[in-house]
Parts: sequence; structure tokens; C-alpha cells
Amino acid sequence: MLGFGWIRYVAEMITRRSRQKLCKRCRLLYEKSFAYCPHCVDIGDSKLKTLLKKRKRLLGGLGTGMLVASLVITLLLLTAKFI
Ligand SMILES: [Zn+2]
Repeated sequence: MLGFGWIRYVAEMITRRSRQKLCKRCRLLYEKSFAYCPHCVDIGDSKLKTLLKKRKRLLGGLGTGMLVASLVITLLLLTAKFI
């Protein structure tokens, strides 16, 4: 039986998000109580550019992987119905 743990999870995520701020430099979230973003405060512009490129490539690959997985699952469900 499913509990209502997901409601608590969503409430925690909303609360956590309200305490965070988006860094304009690296576009990651960090606590509002910090004066500087801990993700990018000590890295130079060239290294930051490399990290942003790497993250963009990784997220693009993840989107493609999810699309392929959804197509495979759809095909499996369609073929299973006709067998
Ligand atoms: Zn940052």
C-alpha cells in the first residue's frame, strides 16, 4: 500500500527550493545564507566554461537516452499486446 510519503517529499523539496538561490554564473542552486556560490567561487572563467559545456553535453545525452528508453518501452508494450 502506498503511503503519503511523497507529499512530505514534495513539501521538503518546495521548502528546500525556497531557501536556495540560482547562481547567475554557473546556474546551480545554493543556499541563500551563503554570500558566494560554493560551486564556482574558486574556479576561473575558462574552467567554468569547460564545466558548463560538459554539463550541457551530459544533460543532452540524458535526454536522448530517455527518449530511446521510452521508444523501446512503447514498442515492447505494443508488441506484447498483439502476442
Ligand atoms: Zn555558481
